[in-house]
Amino acid sequence: MRRSEIVRLQERVGTLGDGFWGPMSIAACQQHLKSMMPSPHPFPVEGSPEFTEFYGPHGDKDYSPPSEKIRLPFTLYYGDKPVKSLWVHARCAASLLRVFERLAEVYPDKASRERAGILIYNGLYNPRLKRNSLNSWSMHAWMNAIDINAGKNGNKTSWPVNASMPIEVMECFAQEGWLSAGAFWGRDAMHFQATAPL
Ligand SMILES: [Zn+2]
Repeated sequence: MRRSEIVRLQERVGTLGDGFWGPMSIAACQQHLKSMMPSPHPFPVEGSPEFTEFYGPHGDKDYSPPSEKIRLPFTLYYGDKPVKSLWVHARCAASLLRVFERLAEVYPDKASRERAGILIYNGLYNPRLKRNSLNSWSMHAWMNAIDINAGKNGNKTSWPVNASMPIEVMECFAQEGWLSAGAFWGRDAMHFQATAPL
């Protein structure tokens, strides 16, 4: 993001708009998103005993988690390929559909969706380990995480200084209890997952 966009972001999350994204801005941003989440939180914390109880086992070559198909309110693109529906873990499928319905309201036309980068879909289900891990599974292996606009919000790209994911997109996810990696881990801003914050 440009400096002016970071100042606007800081003002939106209720901290001093000085254009410097430091610990105060990070804390304010996380608090801003947490304050929008439903209470009680609809999802368990990643890695907790409740998590396994709630979502069951991760997918692998022999098993796929229980899933539901959601029909999106607007078409996404996986490369050149139009995507009109998504398969999502049954425990968070209705929730993800509501996230997209909120996005459709906040970004009411194709031009605004393009500007926000939310038409670029980069995957949901992927039964794999986390990057650089030998035993920790990615949330994508549970079908409860989605990647959007990876090109400008990479795994190692710091958010918001070098990444582009708008806070308004993160808010749409937060209102359904989904975590935004950009806001909560400071990178990988393409990534959203249906788990509670710590
Ligand atoms: Zn991801």
